[in-house]
Amino acid sequence: MVAKNPGPPTWICPHCNVAQLIADEKIDRYSKVLSITGLAEEYVSVDYHAIGCANPSCKKLTLSCYAYAVTKHFGINGPDRYSKNGPPLAGSRFLPKGSSKPQPSYVPQVLVIDYEEACAIKDLSPKASATLVRRCLQGMIRDFCGITKDTLAKEIRALREAVDGDTAPKGVASETVDAIDHVRSIGNIGAHMEKDINVIVDVDSNEAQMLIELVEMLFDEWYIARHKRNERLQAITALGSQKQEERKQLSLSSPPDVAESGFVTL
Ligand SMILES: [Zn+2]
Repeated sequence: MVAKNPGPPTWICPHCNVAQLIADEKIDRYSKVLSITGLAEEYVSVDYHAIGCANPSCKKLTLSCYAYAVTKHFGINGPDRYSKNGPPLAGSRFLPKGSSKPQPSYVPQVLVIDYEEACAIKDLSPKASATLVRRCLQGMIRDFCGITKDTLAKEIRALREAVDGDTAPKGVASETVDAIDHVRSIGNIGAHMEKDINVIVDVDSNEAQMLIELVEMLFDEWYIARHKRNERLQAITALGSQKQEERKQLSLSSPPDVAESGFVTL
């Protein structure tokens, strides 16, 4: 069997969410090993990479900078080389700030603001980030599913019952509620979903990230999917009306004694 060619890798601009190939003139990278002696890490390199968006309506800069501990390999017949010892010591994307993905305007703004703030502070304060995401998750269940209870945990249980009883809103799949349940079962998240949404809870940045990804999935599967479904339905309805109008015009222009079959009726 011949393997499918995966094609060239694409990059998704975090400003406008448009996938694109990166041309040489749209990317700049630089890596510098610090000329400081006696460091505990011995050798540290600072790397940045910058990409300019090729989408004409965006054209914005994405800029990241990371520090790595590196090992020096002495060159015998050439310059010294360095290899990274592991993941970055520190670093992040500076432009745009935070790791939030752009969300369309039809997603309620109050939810998007909580989500963006949660992404922006995830590494600095995972517990504050998780609190914002829980509020966002609750807002989505209330807005999209029309379920309001005292705690987020009760709302999730009610949503599960609605899905199992076939009374959940259109677009809420059983698998999505499984994913919510799965995240709820991880670490401290589940226990704290039982508490008031405004109580700040102790979670680590991985748990905060999982909650953020869950919210991103729900933006996609609920709001974006509903919007696309409505757009498709509107397009089908518009096409149906157009066809009906064309048929009407055609029958008006046909001689009165010729039936649709094209035979002359006697
Ligand atoms: Zn862009």
